[in-house]
Amino acid sequence: MKYVSTRGMAPALAFDDVLLVGLARDGGLYVPRTWPRLGKDDIRSFGGLSYAELATRIMLPFVKGSISEADLAAIVGESYGGFAHPDVAPIKELGAGEWLLELFHGPTCAFKDYSLQVVGRLFDFVLKQRSKRVTIIGATSGDTGSAAIEACRDRDAIEIFILHPKGRVSEVQRRQMTTVASANVHNIAIEGTFDDCQELVKAMFNDLSFRDRCHLAAVNSINWARIMAQIVYYFWAAVAIGAAGRPIAFAVPTGNFGNIFAGYAASLMGLPVRQLIIGSNRNDILTRFLGSGRMEASRVMPTLSPSMDIQASSNFERLLFELYGRDGTEVAALMDRFGETGAFSVDADRLRGIRALFDGERFDDEQTKRTIKAVYQESGWILDPHSAVGVAAGRAKRRDAEVPMVVLATAHPAKFPEAVRAATGESPEPPPRLADLFERQERYRVLPKDLREVQTFVLETLRGKRAA
Ligand SMILES: *Cc1c(COP(=O)(O)O)cnc(C)c1O
Repeated sequence: MKYVSTRGMAPALAFDDVLLVGLARDGGLYVPRTWPRLGKDDIRSFGGLSYAELATRIMLPFVKGSISEADLAAIVGESYGGFAHPDVAPIKELGAGEWLLELFHGPTCAFKDYSLQVVGRLFDFVLKQRSKRVTIIGATSGDTGSAAIEACRDRDAIEIFILHPKGRVSEVQRRQMTTVASANVHNIAIEGTFDDCQELVKAMFNDLSFRDRCHLAAVNSINWARIMAQIVYYFWAAVAIGAAGRPIAFAVPTGNFGNIFAGYAASLMGLPVRQLIIGSNRNDILTRFLGSGRMEASRVMPTLSPSMDIQASSNFERLLFELYGRDGTEVAALMDRFGETGAFSVDADRLRGIRALFDGERFDDEQTKRTIKAVYQESGWILDPHSAVGVAAGRAKRRDAEVPMVVLATAHPAKFPEAVRAATGESPEPPPRLADLFERQERYRVLPKDLREVQTFVLETLRGKRAA
């Protein structure tokens, strides 16, 4: 499979190259040149497959020419082998035709594990084939760092450095990163804010000699392989509720538009998706867009669902590419406008095209807590704040009660105990992976927000590893 850039000006690349480069050279995002199509019979034939078997079937056409079926099956099997639930992504009925897909049984108890566990192993596999090593450097405001660390830990071809703002992430979040006892994992607590951390990472990538010396790489949310791995659970859900080949709706708590774009991709591949419902918190750039056709960034506001506190939904560019008939020039013009002015608009026809499938609604923290409480009272199930935004949006916007609706639950409630306690009065039971966090040894380096000091630490750490 070859991949093309959404801005039309970068060379088409094979899967393994797309995996390693992430962003295209013209600033665009990579998408498959054609979407593999699955018929009703194909989808029905998925019944009875394990999650890993289904994942291999769905992903194989996307990696063709780069990775063999046997290698993919081994990578996928290993990726999901360590998940805490035998179904990997269990599904349960919340209400009439309303389902909850639990995507929090991976090592960090949030849905990013479902893609990053695969992506980390794919990286390692392709790097080893090329006899290369990379250094992954990233910044986290708390939630995403641990998923990246768990994805890269113990991978021979990868060293990973994650910067977090000292004292500004929750203790659980910090411990999820700093108690990982792997020799290739390096946590840095920066005396500063999350923005300082991001600036430092950006500066390291912009320092070309440093970048080359360290072979810097990123596994960020625009990497195609993450979307690819997320497509799987849309098919999985349809099969699990016995709706293979029949219309289905999804409600997804969204920030970067990555997770819900995977649902759109599933529909392009032949899953009969009737409706995709976007759940936003107060950072509602996407739901405002659905109302007006104008995408306009504003200031990021902190909420109870921090992983959705985003004001630029990077993966939306992939939807624009499809909507504009795969015309990279048009997409590039829109994105340039967004870069220069912080806004762009689409015409009425395109907006109608988006609204044919997408709906969206935004909820503030009070409404989020009310939803957690309501679901708890109805069913005894405890939602985390992100999943609650998804349920609330689904309930507000579901078009057809005859069409089953699956809400994606993106985090385990025990990751957000304060919000859950405020909503229900109960403390969510932590799963074993979180329960022993407080007994494990922490390991991290505190550094000032100083580029030279951070670079020196990185270089010395890498040198020490090479000498060893
Ligand atoms: C990252 C994340 C989201 C948002 O996912 P996007 O792909 O950015 O839309 C939602 N919930 C949780 C718990 C997350 O970690």
